[in-house]
Amino acid sequence: MVSERMKGLGTARSVIRELFEYGNARAAQIGRENVFDFSLGNPSVPSPAAVNETAIRLLQEQPDQIHAYTSAPGAADARQRFASSLDRRFGANCTADRLYLTVGAAASLCCVFNGLTCPGDEFIVFAPYFPEYKVFIEGAGAKMVLIPPEIQGFQIDFDAFEGAVSEHTKGVVINTPNNPSGVVYSKATLERLAQILTEKSAAYGHPIYLISDEPYREVVYTGVEVPWVPHLYRDTIVCYSFSKSLSLPGERLGYILVPQDVTEGDDVYAAVSGAGRSLGYVCAPSLFQQVTSLCCDLTSDIQVYETNRDLLVSSLREMGYHVVEPGGAFYLFPRSLEPDDVAFSERAKQFELLLVPGTGFGAPGHVRISYCVQTDMIRRSLPKFKALADSYK
Ligand code: PLP
Repeated sequence: MVSERMKGLGTARSVIRELFEYGNARAAQIGRENVFDFSLGNPSVPSPAAVNETAIRLLQEQPDQIHAYTSAPGAADARQRFASSLDRRFGANCTADRLYLTVGAAASLCCVFNGLTCPGDEFIVFAPYFPEYKVFIEGAGAKMVLIPPEIQGFQIDFDAFEGAVSEHTKGVVINTPNNPSGVVYSKATLERLAQILTEKSAAYGHPIYLISDEPYREVVYTGVEVPWVPHLYRDTIVCYSFSKSLSLPGERLGYILVPQDVTEGDDVYAAVSGAGRSLGYVCAPSLFQQVTSLCCDLTSDIQVYETNRDLLVSSLREMGYHVVEPGGAFYLFPRSLEPDDVAFSERAKQFELLLVPGTGFGAPGHVRISYCVQTDMIRRSLPKFKALADSYK
């Protein structure tokens, strides 16, 4: 006898993985250069040189300590460096003892959902959304309430949102820059969200926490501003990761920040830490606690993502695709050329284009293009996108 829920999660098909595997099989048949795989969100640019240099230096200088356990929420010196960096860069006014280091944004989110959830609690999520949120929220015993997408600009449908907030709402999740739309919420969007949350918290007599999932915080393009969310809404909890900003997804390093001003902040931090303990997310990888904290003011060179975005947005628009321009991350979320995005993704395969259907992100009628790939591949893919569009004429 095993847990049916876990068995279900362990055996459920992942559309993204299936596409990726299909791409590998197809590459073996027709050559890698003839398959245009836009399925995965693995950063394509290397980490800054300082990352590897720091890792090598630490391995040489501290061979007897660098692999040791640290304290459960992370080494004190690493946490202090992150806190100082956030203060310097955002005026965050944060202290090391409100940072909990863990294995990426995924674990950060799980610790927060598990730490906050009481029986009957709900978390609101805006489509399009990172599908693992549902797994994480339900895994914590809470209910996910999904707000349909605002498809003109992928900001927030505030009418739908206001209608969904209730006494059961424990938190609201945002992800900006966004996976899968690449859109950055404007300051006006965040201010309106903050205003509603403040009013609703007062009306229901308890704080509604804003969980800001920020793995793409630094992956933003020229002229785009990503506001520091805790400045706009006091009860914000930040979940961060170095997977994208430093191109380190396999090293599994991120953190939770419970800012000083958060309501019942000491309890929230204690509960998040307790959730980390209960889930086994203690003592994040010690080498990379040090490496990331020594390199946390750096970002990988994301110029190629911007080049790729510009090329794709202008080319696809010329071909007649409807595209909302992303301000960051490395995803584009155009409308599919027929209402059924799954059928559209299947048709795209005939042109060797691997595009992820939007249904899994809560936004049917769209597909996700991960453009963290070589620019040359994008150039070579353009005739395929054109042929795909022409096939609908
Ligand atoms: N949140 C979003 C929106 C993501 O896109 C991802 C990964 O792609 C994660 C969280 C998880 O990232 P991590 O590698 O830090 O666990």
